[in-house]
Amino acid sequence: MTNKIRYFIANWKMYGDLSSLNSIQRVIKFSKLNKSKKFKIVYCPPYTLLNQFITKVKKSSIDVGAQNIHQNFDFGANTGFINSKMVKNLGAKYVILGHSENRELGEDNKHINKKILSAIKSKLTVIFCIGETLSQRKKNKTKIILKNQINFGLKGVNKRNKIIFAYEPVWSIGTGVIPNNIELEKNLKFIKSIVSKKFKEYKILYGGSVNPDNIKKLRKIDLLDGYLIGGASQSSKKLIDIIKKTFN
Ligand code: PEP
Repeated sequence: MTNKIRYFIANWKMYGDLSSLNSIQRVIKFSKLNKSKKFKIVYCPPYTLLNQFITKVKKSSIDVGAQNIHQNFDFGANTGFINSKMVKNLGAKYVILGHSENRELGEDNKHINKKILSAIKSKLTVIFCIGETLSQRKKNKTKIILKNQINFGLKGVNKRNKIIFAYEPVWSIGTGVIPNNIELEKNLKFIKSIVSKKFKEYKILYGGSVNPDNIKKLRKIDLLDGYLIGGASQSSKKLIDIIKKTFN
């Protein structure tokens, strides 16, 4: 395994309440005891917990991100939404954009592009989710879908901006099914071939049903800089197990 920083992004989706703050204590302790290992944990809780999470992890190496933002950079009459400046102002450093659960609700590449530009303007690090659905995969459209998501999503983005790509096959999210390593490597190489023409520095993560049982298989893929973890990240034990098994 190469000696690079491994990212573990915990996407809590619409889960968690104030009592969850106690449960992450174990992960904070783990990160403090394992400073010598090269990893970065980023918690992405729901908006309602952003402030509390930021306060809770303050004296650790753990960072916090939001799960989405509104596409408008400016403040405005957008009931129920928050923008990149608000997230940044709280002290969050990252934001997940382009997640398939939001694409399903109508977010298209154009919206996502606006969101990415807004996040960059606010100096948030973008975790940009891309991936094909099962029907697109069956129709052999994976490459064209990934290419469009990358090219339209990143229109106008400066090549010096640091983007974290999260390749998340939609059919793998929350299903317990992951691609085999051959398919995964093929798609990651394809993503790299597009992205490396555009950016100097970038990271690529895999997301979709990562858990303590399949991490040993996934960690064999050296192209990866880490993982975007949904369901399993809500359990501190599972998250720690995933990190431990990535290194040992
Ligand atoms: C996700 O929602 O980004 C995700 C990867 O979810 P899960 O790990 O639950 O499949």
